[in-house]
Amino acid sequence: KFNTNVGQHILKNPGVAEAIVAKANLKPGDVVLEVGPGTGNLTVRILEKAKKVIAVELDPRMAAEVTKRVQGKPEAKRLEVMLGDVIKTELPHFDVCISNTPYQISSPLVFKLLALPNPPRTSVLMFQREFALRLTARPGDALYCRLSVNAQFWATITHIMKVGKNNFRPPPQVESSVVRIEPKIGTDRPGVSWDEWDGMLRICFVRKNRTMRASWLGTKEVLAMVERNYRVYCALNSIPIDETEIGEEEDMDVDDGAAPGGGDEWGGIMDVDDEADETPSFFKEEAERVARENGGKTKSKKKKTRVAELVKEKIRKVLEDVTELAERRAGKCDENDFLRLLSAFNEEGIHFA
Ligand code: SAM
Repeated sequence: KFNTNVGQHILKNPGVAEAIVAKANLKPGDVVLEVGPGTGNLTVRILEKAKKVIAVELDPRMAAEVTKRVQGKPEAKRLEVMLGDVIKTELPHFDVCISNTPYQISSPLVFKLLALPNPPRTSVLMFQREFALRLTARPGDALYCRLSVNAQFWATITHIMKVGKNNFRPPPQVESSVVRIEPKIGTDRPGVSWDEWDGMLRICFVRKNRTMRASWLGTKEVLAMVERNYRVYCALNSIPIDETEIGEEEDMDVDDGAAPGGGDEWGGIMDVDDEADETPSFFKEEAERVARENGGKTKSKKKKTRVAELVKEKIRKVLEDVTELAERRAGKCDENDFLRLLSAFNEEGIHFA
């Protein structure tokens, strides 16, 4: 009956449903967005506390179930069911979001909510335990990753309760947790470009246990990408570029003990390698581009130019002299460290978006 491919795990414990709604601190005038109402176990409880519920449901059978559940009752008028994928749906205004989230959309849902022009005052969301722990992880924690830094850039996130798998029908394979997300407003949020911030973090977190020096100076693809971005910056600002060739590019293979292996972008899949939590997909693109430039031969050496040397020197200066982050590892750096790093890079004309 339930389609677990779209995350249909119905909350069967009424106590947990009550607690989730209570944690949202609803006011009688609130409009609540519920993602994936399913058969309506949370929906009916939200309707008791709020003015209106907008429930976005992907599965027409479930949309019919929740509609039927309030049919003929006065609260039917206060329930609006929207059929569709919440990620692709243009959302009307709402004050609070409550969701027993289908785990496939965990990450896009968080960022969709936080990027709204009027983000919800509070979101109380059930996630897989590991995703919840990543959202709330602090520097040095085993699960601290780019997701943690990015989510906490936008919001204050608190873990509010653990929910065992047997509270669901059918039980999912993993444990769950409920978190509360409250957007940072005004000056609480760092005043930097989101694209630049995310672009820089992608590099820092390719291997979070590597030193910054190894991440930035020990990877050909990173150097090539920074150089390309620097060239764009120079072109836009009419800064001449010194193309003098100064020999061949040396081989690089800096390793400082961090574990190898490819990671997985956090989209809700549980078995992520903690040492390497991001897929460096732009690296592949960059490597392919470099290979194309070199006539399709990945192995052939590129000519080193003065501008490449200059870029390397700029990175060295940023890491060693300006921020003193060269020997630090992304997994132990906090928001303030990353902000200092971005501003130092920008100061040198190095941008990430
Ligand atoms: N809220 C119910 C409960 O707690 O018992 C059901 C929760 S169940 C974990 C997730 C629900 O989200 C399912 O009803 C599923 O059909 C729906 N769903 C899955 N993907 C969705 C999407 N992209 N947009 C909206 N709803 C979705």
